[in-house]
Amino acid sequence: PTDRSEGNAGKVPPLPPLRDVIARHGLSANRALGQNFLFDLNLTGRIARAAAPLDAGTVIEIGPGPGGLTRALLDHGAGAVIVIERDRRFLPVLAEISAAYPGRLQVIEGDALKVDAAKLGSAPRRIVANLPYNVATPLLLGWLDAGTAFTSLTLMFQKEVAERLLARPKTKDYGRLTIAAQWRADVKRLFDIPPRAFTPPPKVTSTVVQLIPRAEPLFAADATMLERVTAAAFGQRRKMLRQSLRQVSPQADEVLVATGIAPTARGEELSIEQFCALARAFKAEGPTGPRAGL
Ligand code: SAM
Repeated sequence: PTDRSEGNAGKVPPLPPLRDVIARHGLSANRALGQNFLFDLNLTGRIARAAAPLDAGTVIEIGPGPGGLTRALLDHGAGAVIVIERDRRFLPVLAEISAAYPGRLQVIEGDALKVDAAKLGSAPRRIVANLPYNVATPLLLGWLDAGTAFTSLTLMFQKEVAERLLARPKTKDYGRLTIAAQWRADVKRLFDIPPRAFTPPPKVTSTVVQLIPRAEPLFAADATMLERVTAAAFGQRRKMLRQSLRQVSPQADEVLVATGIAPTARGEELSIEQFCALARAFKAEGPTGPRAGL
């Protein structure tokens, strides 16, 4: 209801409405594959515009399903779109879209978790997706590992996951995922989408988030050690750091004192800068922890 005024004048899709396409192909949503489809042209258009500019390089979409967002990306000027879809039932519909936009859409059938998206098409690469909820987090972590291989990630998550990506210290949402994301990317909230906008409606509200990978992480740290430290600190949220960090190293107390962090503090009180300082200190202290030698 907010942006109807922008309309779709002059952008009448060259293809029949999505609901007709779905009916004609006898497609139904498969919950096990996290399928909730977005048919509203205002919303798919809004996501496509948020990911702009789309004309240069490659737009990579994960889980196009019947292709609502795919069509919006193409209608909004994407020069080259590569989609990865696991459910074979959608391949004929996606082939129709490809034929309607000659030479601009490539369809890859497969599991996005097994595809190295950083090698697809040419740079700049932008990922845009209404993600299947069951694989949203592992996909995001994999793309963040790829550094600046992606220019932007414009992604729809369950609202509760988005809140964790965007969280500030001293809140219940602040945790491992927050630090993994904000350490390597600038994370911005775009807008919420209510369950009723989807077919079938999911149980929870969705939030579109944009992540812009940083040229360098926010503060120096070894990625593996930072992950170990945050896993320990947030795995036992209620415990003081001097206790929870013992699983990183028996010298946790000394490391906390050396970094000027109160051993009685809890993980959620620490800034990303402090977590990075801890990761550097544990790394410098050497391979003495229980996982040493692994
Ligand atoms: N993009 C469509 C839309 O917005 O209407 C569909 C979104 S639906 C939430 C998620 C899509 O991801 C489904 O089409 C599903 O089949 C697909 N999918 C699920 N797991 C996948 C995986 N591991 N790799 C690729 N696609 C996957």
